[in-house]
Amino acid sequence: MTVTVEHLIGAGWAPSVSGERFESRDPHDGALLASVAAGGREDADRALSAARRAFDEGPWPRMTAEERRGLLHAFADLVDRDAEALALLDTRDMGKPIRESRGMDLPRVSRNLRFFGDYAAMASSEAYPDGTRLSYVLYPPAGVVVAISPWNFPAMQASWKIAPALAFGNTVVLKPAEQSPLTAARLGALALEAGFPEGVLNVVQGFGPEAVGEALTRDPRADRITFTGESATGRAIAAAAAANLTPLSCELGGRSASVVFADADLDEAVAGALRGSFTNNGEVCLAGSRLFLQRGIHDAFLERFVAAAEGLRVGDPKDAGTDIGPLVDAGHREKVDGYVQLGVREGGELLCGGGPPGDGALAGGSYYAPTVLGGMHNGMRAVREEIFGPVQVIVPFDDEAEALRLANDSDYGLAGMLWTTNLDRAHRMAEAWRTGMVWINCFFERDLRLPFGGEKASGIGREGGRHSREFFTDPRAVVMRRRY
Ligand code: NDP
Repeated sequence: MTVTVEHLIGAGWAPSVSGERFESRDPHDGALLASVAAGGREDADRALSAARRAFDEGPWPRMTAEERRGLLHAFADLVDRDAEALALLDTRDMGKPIRESRGMDLPRVSRNLRFFGDYAAMASSEAYPDGTRLSYVLYPPAGVVVAISPWNFPAMQASWKIAPALAFGNTVVLKPAEQSPLTAARLGALALEAGFPEGVLNVVQGFGPEAVGEALTRDPRADRITFTGESATGRAIAAAAAANLTPLSCELGGRSASVVFADADLDEAVAGALRGSFTNNGEVCLAGSRLFLQRGIHDAFLERFVAAAEGLRVGDPKDAGTDIGPLVDAGHREKVDGYVQLGVREGGELLCGGGPPGDGALAGGSYYAPTVLGGMHNGMRAVREEIFGPVQVIVPFDDEAEALRLANDSDYGLAGMLWTTNLDRAHRMAEAWRTGMVWINCFFERDLRLPFGGEKASGIGREGGRHSREFFTDPRAVVMRRRY
Protein backbone atom coordinates (compact mmCIF):
# COMPACT_ATOMS: atom_id res chain seq x y z
CA MET A 1 0.00 0.00 0.00
CA THR A 2 1.38 3.42 -0.95
CA VAL A 3 1.34 6.04 1.78
CA THR A 4 1.60 9.80 1.61
CA VAL A 5 4.27 11.41 3.77
CA GLU A 6 4.19 15.14 4.56
CA HIS A 7 6.36 17.40 6.68
CA LEU A 8 5.63 17.63 10.39
CA ILE A 9 5.79 21.33 11.18
CA GLY A 10 4.52 22.52 14.55
CA ALA A 11 1.49 20.41 15.44
CA GLY A 12 0.44 19.59 11.91
CA TRP A 13 1.32 17.80 8.71
CA ALA A 14 1.82 19.83 5.56
CA PRO A 15 2.91 19.27 1.96
CA SER A 16 5.80 21.28 0.53
CA VAL A 17 5.07 24.90 -0.32
CA SER A 18 6.19 24.09 -3.87
CA GLY A 19 3.90 21.06 -4.03
CA GLU A 20 6.84 18.92 -5.14
CA ARG A 21 7.02 15.26 -4.19
CA PHE A 22 9.31 12.28 -4.65
CA GLU A 23 8.81 8.53 -4.52
CA SER A 24 10.20 6.12 -1.98
CA ARG A 25 10.63 2.62 -3.39
CA ASP A 26 11.29 -0.79 -1.88
CA PRO A 27 14.80 -1.92 -2.90
CA HIS A 28 13.63 -5.55 -2.78
CA ASP A 29 11.38 -5.28 -5.82
CA GLY A 30 11.05 -1.63 -6.75
CA ALA A 31 7.48 -1.42 -5.39
CA LEU A 32 6.26 2.08 -4.67
CA LEU A 33 6.13 2.59 -0.89
CA ALA A 34 5.36 6.25 -0.45
CA SER A 35 4.83 9.59 -2.09
CA VAL A 36 6.87 12.01 -0.02
CA ALA A 37 6.87 15.81 0.22
CA ALA A 38 10.10 17.14 -1.31
CA GLY A 39 11.08 20.04 0.92
CA GLY A 40 12.68 23.27 -0.24
CA ARG A 41 13.88 26.51 1.28
CA GLU A 42 10.37 27.63 2.28
CA ASP A 43 9.74 24.39 4.17
CA ALA A 44 13.05 24.69 6.02
CA ASP A 45 12.01 28.23 6.89
CA ARG A 46 8.62 27.15 8.24
CA ALA A 47 10.09 24.31 10.27
CA LEU A 48 12.80 26.52 11.77
CA SER A 49 10.19 29.15 12.65
CA ALA A 50 8.11 26.51 14.43
CA ALA A 51 11.12 25.17 16.32
CA ARG A 52 12.30 28.68 17.15
CA ARG A 53 8.88 29.66 18.50
CA ALA A 54 8.63 26.47 20.55
CA PHE A 55 12.03 27.20 22.02
CA ASP A 56 11.62 30.93 22.62
CA GLU A 57 8.03 30.92 23.83
CA GLY A 58 6.96 27.34 24.53
CA PRO A 59 7.12 25.24 27.68
CA TRP A 60 9.73 22.70 26.56
CA PRO A 61 13.00 24.40 27.57
CA ARG A 62 11.34 25.64 30.77
CA MET A 63 10.21 22.21 31.96
CA THR A 64 12.26 20.38 34.54
CA ALA A 65 14.55 17.66 33.22
CA GLU A 66 12.37 15.23 35.18
CA GLU A 67 9.27 16.34 33.25
CA ARG A 68 11.09 15.96 29.94
CA ARG A 69 12.30 12.54 31.05
CA GLY A 70 8.67 11.50 31.60
CA LEU A 71 7.78 12.52 28.05
CA LEU A 72 10.83 10.79 26.56
CA HIS A 73 9.83 7.59 28.37
CA ALA A 74 6.26 7.95 27.09
CA PHE A 75 7.71 8.38 23.58
CA ALA A 76 9.86 5.25 24.08
CA ASP A 77 6.81 3.29 25.29
CA LEU A 78 5.04 4.15 22.02
CA VAL A 79 8.10 3.11 20.00
CA ASP A 80 8.06 -0.22 21.84
CA ARG A 81 4.34 -0.57 21.18
CA ASP A 82 4.86 0.00 17.43
CA ALA A 83 8.29 -1.62 17.20
CA GLU A 84 7.24 -4.34 14.77
CA ALA A 85 5.63 -1.88 12.35
CA LEU A 86 8.59 0.52 12.58
CA ALA A 87 11.07 -2.32 12.00
CA LEU A 88 9.18 -3.34 8.89
CA LEU A 89 9.14 0.26 7.62
CA ASP A 90 12.93 0.55 7.87
CA THR A 91 13.40 -2.85 6.25
CA ARG A 92 11.13 -1.97 3.34
CA ASP A 93 12.54 1.52 3.00
CA MET A 94 16.22 0.61 2.69
CA GLY A 95 16.60 -3.18 2.67
CA LYS A 96 18.07 -4.04 6.06
CA PRO A 97 17.31 -7.62 7.22
CA ILE A 98 14.23 -7.62 9.45
CA ARG A 99 16.11 -9.66 12.03
CA GLU A 100 18.39 -6.64 12.52
CA SER A 101 15.65 -3.97 12.45
CA ARG A 102 13.74 -6.00 15.03
CA GLY A 103 16.57 -7.20 17.20
CA MET A 104 19.03 -4.32 16.98
CA ASP A 105 17.69 -1.04 15.60
CA LEU A 106 14.28 -0.64 17.20
CA PRO A 107 15.41 -1.67 20.69
CA ARG A 108 18.15 0.97 20.33
CA VAL A 109 15.60 3.64 19.37
CA SER A 110 13.70 3.29 22.63
CA ARG A 111 16.96 2.82 24.55
CA ASN A 112 18.29 6.11 23.16
CA LEU A 113 15.12 7.94 24.21
CA ARG A 114 15.12 6.44 27.70
CA PHE A 115 18.87 6.75 28.23
CA PHE A 116 19.09 10.45 27.40
CA GLY A 117 15.88 11.23 29.30
CA ASP A 118 17.41 9.58 32.38
CA TYR A 119 20.86 11.02 31.81
CA ALA A 120 19.68 14.62 31.56
CA ALA A 121 17.53 14.21 34.66
CA MET A 122 20.37 12.72 36.70
CA ALA A 123 23.40 14.62 35.41
CA SER A 124 25.34 16.48 38.06
CA SER A 125 26.86 19.93 37.82
CA GLU A 126 29.95 21.55 39.29
CA ALA A 127 29.93 24.01 42.21
CA TYR A 128 32.98 25.56 43.85
CA PRO A 129 32.20 27.34 47.12
CA ASP A 130 35.40 29.21 47.93
CA GLY A 131 35.51 31.82 50.66
CA THR A 132 33.13 34.60 49.80
CA ARG A 133 32.76 33.31 46.25
CA LEU A 134 30.40 30.65 44.95
CA SER A 135 31.09 29.47 41.40
CA TYR A 136 28.91 26.97 39.59
CA VAL A 137 27.94 25.78 36.11
CA LEU A 138 24.52 25.88 34.45
CA TYR A 139 23.71 23.83 31.35
CA PRO A 140 20.95 25.71 29.52
CA PRO A 141 19.79 24.15 26.23
CA ALA A 142 21.51 25.48 23.11
CA GLY A 143 18.25 26.32 21.31
CA VAL A 144 17.14 25.00 17.92
CA VAL A 145 18.93 21.88 16.72
CA VAL A 146 19.08 20.88 13.06
CA ALA A 147 19.53 17.10 12.84
CA ILE A 148 20.41 15.52 9.49
CA SER A 149 20.51 11.76 9.39
CA PRO A 150 21.63 9.07 6.90
CA TRP A 151 19.73 6.13 5.42
CA ASN A 152 21.64 3.17 6.81
CA PHE A 153 20.03 3.06 10.30
CA PRO A 154 17.07 5.36 9.67
CA ALA A 155 15.11 5.12 12.93
CA MET A 156 18.15 4.47 15.09
CA GLN A 157 20.19 7.37 13.72
CA ALA A 158 17.25 9.75 13.98
CA SER A 159 16.74 8.80 17.63
CA TRP A 160 20.46 9.05 18.39
CA LYS A 161 20.17 12.72 17.40
CA ILE A 162 16.75 13.75 18.66
CA ALA A 163 16.91 11.98 22.04
CA PRO A 164 19.83 13.97 23.53
CA ALA A 165 18.78 17.20 21.80
CA LEU A 166 15.30 16.95 23.33
CA ALA A 167 16.43 15.63 26.71
CA PHE A 168 18.64 18.68 27.27
CA GLY A 169 15.74 21.02 26.45
CA ASN A 170 16.27 21.93 22.79
CA THR A 171 13.74 21.94 19.99
CA VAL A 172 14.55 20.04 16.80
CA VAL A 173 14.16 20.05 13.04
CA LEU A 174 15.00 16.57 11.77
CA LYS A 175 15.71 15.83 8.12
CA PRO A 176 16.09 12.13 7.33
CA ALA A 177 17.83 10.92 4.18
CA GLU A 178 15.64 10.98 1.11
CA GLN A 179 16.19 7.22 0.62
CA SER A 180 14.59 6.40 4.00
CA PRO A 181 11.90 8.91 4.98
CA LEU A 182 9.31 6.61 6.56
CA THR A 183 10.31 5.92 10.15
CA ALA A 184 11.33 9.53 10.83
CA ALA A 185 7.79 10.61 9.95
CA ARG A 186 6.37 7.91 12.23
CA LEU A 187 8.64 9.03 15.06
CA GLY A 188 7.30 12.56 14.64
CA ALA A 189 3.75 11.25 14.93
CA LEU A 190 4.61 9.22 18.03
CA ALA A 191 6.18 12.26 19.72
CA LEU A 192 2.91 14.17 19.21
CA GLU A 193 0.93 11.20 20.54
CA ALA A 194 3.21 11.04 23.58
CA GLY A 195 2.28 14.64 24.37
CA PHE A 196 5.28 16.63 23.16
CA PRO A 197 4.30 20.28 22.81
CA GLU A 198 3.90 21.53 19.25
CA GLY A 199 7.04 22.61 17.44
CA VAL A 200 9.39 20.70 19.74
CA LEU A 201 10.06 18.02 17.12
CA ASN A 202 9.62 18.94 13.46
CA VAL A 203 10.39 16.52 10.65
CA VAL A 204 11.02 17.78 7.13
CA GLN A 205 11.49 15.50 4.14
CA GLY A 206 13.50 15.85 0.99
CA PHE A 207 16.96 16.17 -0.43
CA GLY A 208 20.15 17.76 0.86
CA PRO A 209 22.03 19.76 -1.78
CA GLU A 210 20.19 22.89 -2.98
CA ALA A 211 17.10 21.73 -1.14
CA VAL A 212 15.67 21.56 2.37
CA GLY A 213 18.82 20.02 3.90
CA GLU A 214 21.15 22.73 2.70
CA ALA A 215 18.66 25.48 3.61
CA LEU A 216 18.52 24.19 7.19
CA THR A 217 22.29 24.27 7.53
CA ARG A 218 22.61 27.80 6.12
CA ASP A 219 20.02 29.36 8.42
CA PRO A 220 21.28 31.52 11.31
CA ARG A 221 18.31 30.44 13.43
CA ALA A 222 19.92 27.02 13.89
CA ASP A 223 21.91 26.95 17.14
CA ARG A 224 23.40 23.51 16.57
CA ILE A 225 23.78 21.16 13.61
CA THR A 226 24.21 17.46 14.21
CA PHE A 227 24.96 15.55 11.04
CA THR A 228 25.71 11.94 10.18
CA GLY A 229 26.65 10.98 6.66
CA GLU A 230 29.47 11.00 4.15
CA SER A 231 32.67 12.93 4.77
CA ALA A 232 32.16 14.97 1.58
CA THR A 233 28.71 16.04 2.79
CA GLY A 234 30.24 16.85 6.19
CA ARG A 235 32.63 19.25 4.47
CA ALA A 236 29.76 21.00 2.65
CA ILE A 237 27.73 21.31 5.84
CA ALA A 238 30.72 22.55 7.83
CA ALA A 239 31.25 25.25 5.20
CA ALA A 240 27.57 26.26 5.43
CA ALA A 241 27.72 26.30 9.24
CA ALA A 242 30.89 28.39 9.21
CA ALA A 243 29.06 31.37 7.72
CA ASN A 244 26.99 31.67 10.92
CA LEU A 245 29.57 30.13 13.26
CA THR A 246 26.98 27.47 14.08
CA PRO A 247 28.57 24.75 16.23
CA LEU A 248 28.33 21.38 14.56
CA SER A 249 28.91 17.74 15.30
CA CYS A 250 29.70 15.44 12.39
CA GLU A 251 29.77 11.65 12.40
CA LEU A 252 31.16 10.78 9.01
CA GLY A 253 32.48 7.95 6.88
CA GLY A 254 34.82 5.16 7.81
CA ARG A 255 37.13 2.48 6.48
CA SER A 256 37.85 0.74 9.72
CA ALA A 257 40.34 -2.05 10.26
CA SER A 258 39.59 -5.44 11.76
CA VAL A 259 42.92 -6.93 12.84
CA VAL A 260 43.25 -10.66 13.58
CA PHE A 261 46.41 -11.84 15.32
CA ALA A 262 47.59 -15.45 15.19
CA ASP A 263 46.96 -15.76 18.95
CA ALA A 264 43.24 -14.92 18.59
CA ASP A 265 40.43 -17.31 19.39
CA LEU A 266 39.76 -18.12 15.76
CA ASP A 267 36.11 -19.18 16.18
CA GLU A 268 35.35 -15.89 17.90
CA ALA A 269 37.41 -13.91 15.37
CA VAL A 270 35.78 -15.48 12.29
CA ALA A 271 32.29 -14.88 13.68
CA GLY A 272 33.16 -11.36 14.84
CA ALA A 273 34.93 -10.31 11.64
CA LEU A 274 31.99 -11.68 9.64
CA ARG A 275 29.57 -9.50 11.62
CA GLY A 276 31.97 -6.58 11.24
CA SER A 277 31.88 -7.01 7.46
CA PHE A 278 28.29 -7.91 6.64
CA THR A 279 25.97 -6.53 9.33
CA ASN A 280 23.30 -4.30 7.73
CA ASN A 281 24.38 -5.50 4.26
CA GLY A 282 27.81 -3.97 4.94
CA GLU A 283 26.22 -0.50 4.92
CA VAL A 284 27.74 0.43 8.27
CA CYS A 285 30.01 3.38 8.95
CA LEU A 286 31.73 1.35 11.68
CA ALA A 287 32.22 -1.77 9.54
CA GLY A 288 35.58 -3.51 9.88
CA SER A 289 35.85 -3.27 6.13
CA ARG A 290 39.62 -3.75 5.91
CA LEU A 291 40.45 -7.19 7.30
CA PHE A 292 44.10 -7.56 8.29
CA LEU A 293 45.23 -11.16 8.90
CA GLN A 294 48.53 -12.16 10.50
CA ARG A 295 50.40 -14.42 8.09
CA GLY A 296 50.53 -17.43 10.45
CA ILE A 297 46.74 -17.83 10.35
CA HIS A 298 46.05 -16.08 7.05
CA ASP A 299 45.17 -19.13 4.94
CA ALA A 300 43.29 -21.08 7.62
CA PHE A 301 41.30 -18.00 8.65
CA LEU A 302 40.50 -16.99 5.12
CA GLU A 303 39.24 -20.43 4.18
CA ARG A 304 36.77 -20.34 7.06
CA PHE A 305 35.85 -16.70 6.49
CA VAL A 306 35.09 -17.19 2.79
CA ALA A 307 33.04 -20.33 3.52
CA ALA A 308 31.06 -18.38 6.12
CA ALA A 309 30.52 -15.44 3.72
CA GLU A 310 29.31 -17.83 1.01
CA GLY A 311 26.93 -19.36 3.54
CA LEU A 312 25.15 -16.08 4.27
CA ARG A 313 21.58 -16.10 3.04
CA VAL A 314 20.87 -13.34 0.56
CA GLY A 315 17.17 -12.71 0.15
CA ASP A 316 14.00 -10.80 0.89
CA PRO A 317 14.85 -8.68 3.95
CA LYS A 318 11.34 -9.24 5.33
CA ASP A 319 12.22 -12.93 5.79
CA ALA A 320 13.53 -13.60 9.32
CA GLY A 321 16.09 -16.06 7.92
CA THR A 322 17.75 -13.48 5.65
CA ASP A 323 21.31 -12.36 6.42
CA ILE A 324 21.82 -9.95 3.50
CA GLY A 325 19.06 -7.86 1.94
CA PRO A 326 19.17 -5.56 -1.08
CA LEU A 327 21.40 -2.48 -1.04
CA VAL A 328 19.62 0.83 -0.54
CA ASP A 329 19.13 1.44 -4.27
CA ALA A 330 20.40 0.52 -7.71
CA GLY A 331 22.72 3.52 -7.88
CA HIS A 332 24.45 2.43 -4.72
CA ARG A 333 24.78 -1.14 -6.02
CA GLU A 334 26.52 0.27 -9.09
CA LYS A 335 28.96 2.16 -6.87
CA VAL A 336 29.69 -0.97 -4.81
CA ASP A 337 30.18 -3.08 -7.92
CA GLY A 338 32.43 -0.40 -9.42
CA TYR A 339 34.74 -0.72 -6.42
CA VAL A 340 34.79 -4.52 -6.65
CA GLN A 341 35.73 -4.37 -10.34
CA LEU A 342 38.35 -1.74 -9.48
CA GLY A 343 39.78 -4.03 -6.77
CA VAL A 344 40.13 -6.83 -9.32
CA ARG A 345 41.84 -4.49 -11.79
CA GLU A 346 44.16 -3.35 -9.01
CA GLY A 347 45.28 -6.97 -8.60
CA GLY A 348 42.86 -8.40 -6.02
CA GLU A 349 41.64 -11.98 -6.24
CA LEU A 350 37.89 -12.46 -6.18
CA LEU A 351 37.31 -15.21 -3.59
CA CYS A 352 33.51 -15.07 -3.58
CA GLY A 353 30.64 -12.89 -4.78
CA GLY A 354 31.53 -10.09 -7.16
CA GLY A 355 28.09 -9.32 -8.55
CA PRO A 356 24.35 -9.73 -8.03
CA PRO A 357 23.33 -13.16 -6.67
CA GLY A 358 22.23 -15.76 -9.24
CA ASP A 359 18.74 -16.25 -7.72
CA GLY A 360 16.21 -15.07 -10.33
CA ALA A 361 13.67 -14.28 -7.61
CA LEU A 362 15.93 -11.40 -6.54
CA ALA A 363 16.47 -9.96 -10.02
CA GLY A 364 14.05 -7.07 -9.40
CA GLY A 365 15.99 -5.77 -6.41
CA SER A 366 19.33 -4.07 -5.82
CA TYR A 367 20.97 -7.17 -4.37
CA TYR A 368 24.71 -7.79 -4.22
CA ALA A 369 26.31 -11.07 -3.16
CA PRO A 370 28.69 -11.06 -0.15
CA THR A 371 32.09 -10.49 -1.70
CA VAL A 372 35.63 -11.18 -0.52
CA LEU A 373 38.73 -9.85 -2.30
CA GLY A 374 42.04 -11.46 -1.31
CA GLY A 375 45.62 -10.40 -1.98
CA MET A 376 44.95 -6.71 -1.41
CA HIS A 377 47.27 -4.05 -0.03
CA ASN A 378 46.79 -0.67 1.58
CA GLY A 379 47.87 1.30 -1.49
CA MET A 380 44.81 0.24 -3.52
CA ARG A 381 41.85 2.58 -3.90
CA ALA A 382 39.49 -0.36 -3.28
CA VAL A 383 41.10 -0.66 0.16
CA ARG A 384 41.36 3.03 1.00
CA GLU A 385 38.00 4.46 -0.12
CA GLU A 386 34.65 3.83 1.54
CA ILE A 387 32.67 1.16 -0.35
CA PHE A 388 29.73 0.86 2.07
CA GLY A 389 28.49 -2.54 0.96
CA PRO A 390 28.93 -6.30 1.53
CA VAL A 391 32.53 -6.32 0.37
CA GLN A 392 35.51 -7.41 2.43
CA VAL A 393 39.12 -6.85 1.41
CA ILE A 394 41.88 -9.00 2.90
CA VAL A 395 45.36 -7.65 3.65
CA PRO A 396 48.09 -9.84 5.23
CA PHE A 397 50.58 -8.56 7.84
CA ASP A 398 53.60 -9.88 9.71
CA ASP A 399 53.73 -8.34 13.18
CA GLU A 400 52.04 -5.91 15.57
CA ALA A 401 54.03 -2.89 14.39
CA GLU A 402 53.00 -3.50 10.81
CA ALA A 403 49.37 -4.10 11.80
CA LEU A 404 49.27 -0.79 13.63
CA ARG A 405 50.93 1.07 10.79
CA LEU A 406 48.45 -0.36 8.25
CA ALA A 407 45.43 0.24 10.47
CA ASN A 408 46.45 3.87 10.99
CA ASP A 409 47.31 4.38 7.33
CA SER A 410 43.86 5.67 6.41
CA ASP A 411 42.14 8.97 5.79
CA TYR A 412 39.47 7.77 8.21
CA GLY A 413 39.57 7.03 11.93
CA LEU A 414 36.15 5.88 13.08
CA ALA A 415 36.54 2.42 14.63
CA GLY A 416 38.90 -0.52 14.92
CA MET A 417 38.46 -4.16 15.86
CA LEU A 418 41.19 -6.23 17.40
CA TRP A 419 41.16 -10.00 17.80
CA THR A 420 43.84 -11.29 20.18
CA THR A 421 44.29 -13.10 23.49
CA ASN A 422 47.36 -11.01 24.38
CA LEU A 423 46.16 -8.38 26.86
CA ASP A 424 49.30 -6.24 26.69
CA ARG A 425 49.06 -6.10 22.93
CA ALA A 426 45.37 -5.21 23.10
CA HIS A 427 46.01 -2.23 25.38
CA ARG A 428 49.10 -1.14 23.44
CA MET A 429 47.15 -1.15 20.20
CA ALA A 430 44.19 0.71 21.77
CA GLU A 431 46.53 3.49 22.91
CA ALA A 432 48.30 3.94 19.58
CA TRP A 433 45.35 3.49 17.22
CA ARG A 434 44.08 6.79 15.76
CA THR A 435 40.40 5.95 15.83
CA GLY A 436 37.33 7.06 17.78
CA MET A 437 36.53 3.59 19.06
CA VAL A 438 38.44 0.35 19.61
CA TRP A 439 36.66 -2.96 20.10
CA ILE A 440 38.77 -5.75 21.60
CA ASN A 441 37.38 -9.21 20.79
CA CYS A 442 33.94 -7.79 20.06
CA PHE A 443 32.08 -5.59 17.59
CA PHE A 444 29.21 -3.12 17.77
CA GLU A 445 28.84 -3.21 21.56
CA ARG A 446 27.87 0.18 22.90
CA ASP A 447 27.69 1.85 26.28
CA LEU A 448 25.80 5.08 25.59
CA ARG A 449 27.87 6.95 28.18
CA LEU A 450 30.97 6.62 26.00
CA PRO A 451 32.04 9.25 23.46
CA PHE A 452 31.02 8.33 19.93
CA GLY A 453 32.63 9.90 16.88
CA GLY A 454 35.68 9.72 14.69
CA GLU A 455 39.12 11.13 14.04
CA LYS A 456 40.46 12.51 10.77
CA ALA A 457 37.88 12.40 7.92
CA SER A 458 35.52 10.40 10.16
CA GLY A 459 34.18 13.34 12.06
CA ILE A 460 34.23 16.40 14.23
CA GLY A 461 33.26 16.17 17.89
CA ARG A 462 31.80 13.41 20.01
CA GLU A 463 28.29 12.54 21.15
CA GLY A 464 27.11 10.18 23.91
CA GLY A 465 26.63 10.71 27.66
CA ARG A 466 28.28 13.89 28.92
CA HIS A 467 29.71 14.55 25.47
CA SER A 468 26.16 15.03 24.21
CA ARG A 469 25.49 17.42 27.04
CA GLU A 470 28.56 19.47 26.11
CA PHE A 471 27.29 19.74 22.56
CA PHE A 472 23.56 20.26 23.07
CA THR A 473 23.85 22.83 25.88
CA ASP A 474 25.68 26.11 26.36
CA PRO A 475 27.60 25.57 29.61
CA ARG A 476 27.48 28.80 31.55
CA ALA A 477 29.83 29.82 34.36
CA VAL A 478 28.12 31.67 37.22
CA VAL A 479 30.15 33.42 39.90
CA MET A 480 28.46 35.01 42.93
CA ARG A 481 29.96 37.07 45.73
CA ARG A 482 28.59 35.83 49.04
CA ARG A 483 27.92 38.42 51.72
CA TYR A 484 28.71 36.18 54.64
P1 NDP B 1 25.00 11.48 2.79
O1 NDP B 1 26.12 12.33 3.28
O2 NDP B 1 24.81 11.33 1.35
O3 NDP B 1 23.62 12.03 3.35
C1 NDP B 1 23.38 12.19 4.73
C2 NDP B 1 22.30 13.21 4.92
O4 NDP B 1 22.77 14.50 4.55
C3 NDP B 1 21.07 12.97 4.08
O5 NDP B 1 19.95 13.32 4.85
C4 NDP B 1 21.30 13.91 2.92
O6 NDP B 1 20.13 14.24 2.24
C5 NDP B 1 21.89 15.11 3.63
N1 NDP B 1 22.63 16.02 2.79
C6 NDP B 1 23.35 15.76 1.68
N2 NDP B 1 23.93 16.90 1.22
C7 NDP B 1 23.57 17.91 2.05
C8 NDP B 1 23.84 19.31 2.12
N3 NDP B 1 24.61 19.91 1.24
N4 NDP B 1 23.29 20.02 3.13
C9 NDP B 1 22.52 19.42 4.04
N5 NDP B 1 22.21 18.10 4.04
C10 NDP B 1 22.74 17.34 3.07
O7 NDP B 1 25.18 10.08 3.52
P2 NDP B 1 24.31 8.76 3.29
O8 NDP B 1 22.88 9.02 3.64
O9 NDP B 1 24.65 8.23 1.95
O10 NDP B 1 24.88 7.81 4.42
C11 NDP B 1 26.00 7.02 4.25
C12 NDP B 1 27.23 7.71 4.83
O11 NDP B 1 27.00 8.00 6.21
C13 NDP B 1 28.46 6.86 4.80
O12 NDP B 1 29.56 7.64 4.44
C14 NDP B 1 28.61 6.41 6.24
O13 NDP B 1 29.91 6.05 6.59
C15 NDP B 1 28.11 7.59 6.98
N6 NDP B 1 27.67 7.22 8.32
C16 NDP B 1 28.45 7.59 9.37
C17 NDP B 1 28.10 7.21 10.64
C18 NDP B 1 28.91 7.65 11.81
O14 NDP B 1 28.40 7.56 12.92
N7 NDP B 1 30.12 8.12 11.63
C19 NDP B 1 26.93 6.37 10.91
C20 NDP B 1 26.17 6.06 9.72
C21 NDP B 1 26.56 6.46 8.47
P3 NDP B 1 19.72 13.42 0.88
O15 NDP B 1 20.42 12.12 0.88
O16 NDP B 1 18.29 13.30 1.04
O17 NDP B 1 20.13 14.28 -0.26
